[in-house]
Amino acid sequence: MPPTVAFLGLGAIGAPMAAHLARADQSLTIWNRTRARAIDSAAARAGATVAASAADAVRHADIVITCLPQSSDVADLLAADSYAVQNALPDGALFVDCTSGDPDTSRTIAAALATRNIGFIDAPVSGGVVGAEAGNLTVMVGGAESALERARPILANFAGKIVHCGDIGAGHALKAVNNALLALHIWSTAEGLVAAMKAGVSPAVALDVINASSGRSNASINLFPERVLTGAFPRTFRLALLAKDAGIAAAMARGQNGVAPTLQLAADLMRIAHRELGDDVDHVEAVRLVERWAGVELRS
Ligand code: NDP
Repeated sequence: MPPTVAFLGLGAIGAPMAAHLARADQSLTIWNRTRARAIDSAAARAGATVAASAADAVRHADIVITCLPQSSDVADLLAADSYAVQNALPDGALFVDCTSGDPDTSRTIAAALATRNIGFIDAPVSGGVVGAEAGNLTVMVGGAESALERARPILANFAGKIVHCGDIGAGHALKAVNNALLALHIWSTAEGLVAAMKAGVSPAVALDVINASSGRSNASINLFPERVLTGAFPRTFRLALLAKDAGIAAAMARGQNGVAPTLQLAADLMRIAHRELGDDVDHVEAVRLVERWAGVELRS
């Protein structure tokens, strides 16, 4: 029998991930805090059942997938209403947390679930909304390999690459590091383009050269030409979430007594940008703060 799946959290990236499961004729129950979003979702249109509560969604699930903003939201959801969701998880179920979370909280959640014979893997994703819609996300997994093998056919519906990274928390650790690098690439590319612009080089010319040289990154190759120079700034991944991820990476390094000033800088800059620009802006809009401080705009 194919496993029964519950998917909790139909945000910008969770919604297209769940839609792939529904389109694959996967037995799927979905739940979202704002119920209207679940009812209107592509997954529901493709046949997924919309549950009235998170506890109802997981009650008969072999595999439960969560995609919430941060690990504390996952822990709170499990604990809400006197642990209604945690207690509704069937014996032997597997909990797959696709949230970009933090390793410590995941280890705590996993330990609590293990006492009820429920497995846990952290399985954050990269590739953005575009990758989620195309079904070719990269999934970085922490936890037992046997648990990953159990989840792999389900994850494969929205993943192009699935990598076992280590023990519980390893996926979250790697995801946080990746996103701290993303933050640094966005911020440093903006500063560099501003400096070049003030030296008389247009941002388009600067990007053309950088992208044929060793300073290039996904930010310079894709994000700046498509989103910054055009001024389009589509909202795909909130700056608040990138600030959270950079903060996790910096906290990890501090907890290891590591000397990681650049990770800390990424966390500090994203925290300041989030505070200055607000909760709803996209992550690439961090560039707007660089522009504000410099008194110029990087547009074609
Ligand atoms: P969104 O902000 O778009 O959506 C968040 C989702 O979580 C919504 O469904 C929201 O419900 C729900 N939610 C928020 N708070 C709670 C809570 N306390 N209890 C229950 N549900 C809650 O986030 P994304 O979909 O963009 O991101 C989800 C995760 O995926 C994050 O960890 C993010 O870092 C990660 N991620 C996102 C990517 C992207 O490109 N967007 C790329 C890779 C990873 P409601 O509808 O009620 O608000």
